[in-house]
Amino acid sequence: MKNTKFQTLTGMHDILPEDQRYFDKIYEVVSEIADFYDFEKIETPILEDVDLFNKGTGQSTDIVKKEMYSFRTKGGDFIALRPEFTPSIARAYIQHGMNNRPQPLKLWAFGPCFRYERPQAGRYRQFWQFDFEIFGEKNPVVDAQIAQISYNILKELKIKNLVIEVNSIGDNQCKPYYKKLLGNYLRNRNTSLCSDCRIRAKENVLRFLDCKEEKCQPVKAQAPQILDHLCDECKAHFKSFLEFLDETEIPYNLNPYLVRGLDYYTRTVFEIFSSEDEKENIPKIALGGGGRYDNLVKFFGGKDTPACGVAVGVERIVELMKKQDIKFSKKKEVEVFLTQLGDLAKRKSLKLLEEFRKANIKVSESFGRDSLKAQLSRANKIEAKFTLIVGQKEALDGKVIIRDMKTGNQYSVSLENAVKEVKKRLK
Ligand code: AMP
Repeated sequence: MKNTKFQTLTGMHDILPEDQRYFDKIYEVVSEIADFYDFEKIETPILEDVDLFNKGTGQSTDIVKKEMYSFRTKGGDFIALRPEFTPSIARAYIQHGMNNRPQPLKLWAFGPCFRYERPQAGRYRQFWQFDFEIFGEKNPVVDAQIAQISYNILKELKIKNLVIEVNSIGDNQCKPYYKKLLGNYLRNRNTSLCSDCRIRAKENVLRFLDCKEEKCQPVKAQAPQILDHLCDECKAHFKSFLEFLDETEIPYNLNPYLVRGLDYYTRTVFEIFSSEDEKENIPKIALGGGGRYDNLVKFFGGKDTPACGVAVGVERIVELMKKQDIKFSKKKEVEVFLTQLGDLAKRKSLKLLEEFRKANIKVSESFGRDSLKAQLSRANKIEAKFTLIVGQKEALDGKVIIRDMKTGNQYSVSLENAVKEVKKRLK
């Protein structure tokens, strides 16, 4: 057999133990805030029918066209690894008749997504997102609440200099008209566009607006702006959304070029950034983004249901937490270290450890080490307050020595009383 040194696949990454605490912290804050705002957690399968994303996210989007992990199963089904959550959650909403529950229905999720992207800084092929969706409410207060929740989570995680960019891309009435207008404008300027935008002009004309290519910028600056062409209802919705935002402390900017690229968005779209990134002159990657998608549930065969949501990238947050040197409290400190000598002591220690676990006292050990000196030095290193010593003699007598690591005092107690005695001294 070939002697292969296996590595993670390109664009995939291990989340090592030292990074788990960031993930745990983010999960903790997300779940607490979700709970406060009455969101219920949902988990959908990572694999779905490929058409869910073809139709939902949209055939002409980069995600579907270039980045989807899709394949045929042995049984002949054509399936995909989810590139995002929204279509899956909308599917689940319809499949389980959730429109019959009290509305608005608020759901949240946390898990990995997959996109076959060109490997680059900050972009992975497997990455984690958390996601919030509200179904069954058309009032723009919900759009503001979704923006506020994502902002609050990042604020709570102490990410600095947050700003939200907002825009409206209209609805079924005004969006098609604006797309036509923009398409006509671009048709006359085809030679001034980058190669991607020449295709976008035909297939997904709104995406031209968020093109970052130098070549397209002068064309963009002169292009008709969607905010000037919204229908009255969309205009009123957007105005009201901004008024709600004004009530919050969220700093926001109007960005007429923000379109979010996915097919299902209607009216409100927004993205969250940390302006720290700007200082370093690196390409601006949003921490998260979202908006309203009033047509998706109906489009998937459900009842006419307005909806609004947001997805935030967990790796992006971790990266910023590290860059901004954000500290948060460590896991529960180890207060007790258990040392043992010999097989009988090991056996007694296994049971003793279990007693401490039941009493919710964190005890660390290093069963692999046999020398008392090595074990005590480990206890010192982790700054344990007490060390339990089960030597050969103690094991035979059913005893354990409790050593106060600060004073060096030692007490011999029976194995049965060990938890009680340690508890007493920890107080
Ligand atoms: P999107 O809905 O595509 O804007 O994604 C929402 C958020 O997920 C982005 O703002 C990023 O923080 C994160 N994200 C999207 N794609 C990737 C990726 N390939 N690698 C890491 N994070 C990503």
